Amino acid sequence: MRTYHSTRSNEAPLTAKEAIRRGIAPDGGLYVSDALGTVQIPLVDLSEMSYLDLAREVLRALLPDFSPAEIDACASEAYEKTFASAEVTPVVDIAPMGSDGTPASVLELWHGPTSAFKDVALQMLPRLMARTGSNDGAEDEKIMIVTATSGDTGKAALAGFADAPGVGITVFYPEGKVSRVQELQMSTQEGANVAVCGVRGNFDDAQTAVKQIFADRELAERLCAQGVMLSSANSINVGRLVPQVVYYFAAYAQLLRAGTITCGDEVEFCVPTGNFGDILAGYYAKRLGLPVARLIVASDANNVLFDFLTTGTYNRKRPFFTTTSPSMDILVSSNLERMLYYLSDGDVELVSQLMGELADEGSYTLPDELLSKIQEVFACGWADEDEVARAIKACWDENGYLIDPHTACGYHVLSQMPAAPGSKARILLSTANPYKFPRAVAGALGLFCPPDDFACMQVLEKATGTCAPTQLAALQDKPVLHTDVVDIDGMASFVEQAAGGLK
Ligand SMILES: *Cc1c(COP(=O)(O)O)cnc(C)c1O
Repeated sequence: MRTYHSTRSNEAPLTAKEAIRRGIAPDGGLYVSDALGTVQIPLVDLSEMSYLDLAREVLRALLPDFSPAEIDACASEAYEKTFASAEVTPVVDIAPMGSDGTPASVLELWHGPTSAFKDVALQMLPRLMARTGSNDGAEDEKIMIVTATSGDTGKAALAGFADAPGVGITVFYPEGKVSRVQELQMSTQEGANVAVCGVRGNFDDAQTAVKQIFADRELAERLCAQGVMLSSANSINVGRLVPQVVYYFAAYAQLLRAGTITCGDEVEFCVPTGNFGDILAGYYAKRLGLPVARLIVASDANNVLFDFLTTGTYNRKRPFFTTTSPSMDILVSSNLERMLYYLSDGDVELVSQLMGELADEGSYTLPDELLSKIQEVFACGWADEDEVARAIKACWDENGYLIDPHTACGYHVLSQMPAAPGSKARILLSTANPYKFPRAVAGALGLFCPPDDFACMQVLEKATGTCAPTQLAALQDKPVLHTDVVDIDGMASFVEQAAGGLK
């Protein structure tokens, strides 16, 4: 059962439960399992399977030390009443996006409580986490979840962990670099165990500081003396990644049921990407037997992944752009490390060396052979701000279908790229409800945007005949409960203070 270990070392293997509880390895690596793919998900049954059935299958395959009863309970609690769609992640057809007429569709991942795809994982992670302790829980330390957010993870994690027993959560977001709606979603969060704090810096600064907080032995000892350990709700936690594998299968199952594809057909997925978590889950799905012709990485103007996947050099020393797709404004893409681990066939020395170079020099270059292997699986593209706006408009004009700026990066990239040879369907992952970014979306459609974001929502509703999710529209009447802002070097003491208040 001890199948998990760090991407940077084969020593000290852990169970899935331990990997989830710890979040990140003490050497700074991410937890991976060499058993990935040894259990395959049978395709023949797929068209009969509901989202919950698929969630149970995938979780059992990837988290072998959770009992079937635990997995069943987690899946029901996470998805039965929390998502506003019976399919959980429904597929919607759009017009083909290339001259060859390959069918195209959008996989809507934002029907959860916070209207972004992070809910799919963050409704599950707290349920998994709650089952990682000793049987009676009496001896267990309390867990303080510390999370840096580029905009959407924070609220989804707060919604998942608020008032969870034995757990506290601290969220750091880059002040002034998230949308107004995103900021209000976090600053109005209720719950006795939640702390929310703005950071003077960008997401990468905050994420790096959080990783340093995890690696701070002295802090860990002080917290341990109070009976508290730190863990992560970012996609560096394998408990975040695994639930995201499910919807790749769910999309395929829906296309089978619709008759768009037949069993065994290859399909391609285009994924708006920042920290590489979502698209990595697609790679896990491929390893579990899903016929994936290709995974397309779609970036915004922060196109570090595009340069990396085309040249083999990862270079984080570059200008940072604040865009209309803030959740993808990332220069250090954490989950790439897991991809490098798997595509180098588990070469922990190589991964350690490359990650060391990234930390010390700000860049690294892949061996040619590894780059070619990666390029066989991953294609890439990116969209600048004008292209994002034009994609929102084009998708609306051609399909009467509204997409948010993150999804629009993917829409642009798909529209520029011919279908992969052999691919029978193209699936664009839609990562946020357009009403999370009403100003950018209304602006792209050429509508008049009042200064207030909630007034923008109404303009958008009127012009398109679509509806803002009630949980977003209701934000304007909620009291702001969190107003703290700290410098990067104030983050650790903020965490310590929040941990001190844990009951
Ligand atoms: C987090 C997020 C992304 C990027 O996902 P990664 O797993 O970090 O690649 C894209 N779009 C939206 C709306 C997000 O919230």
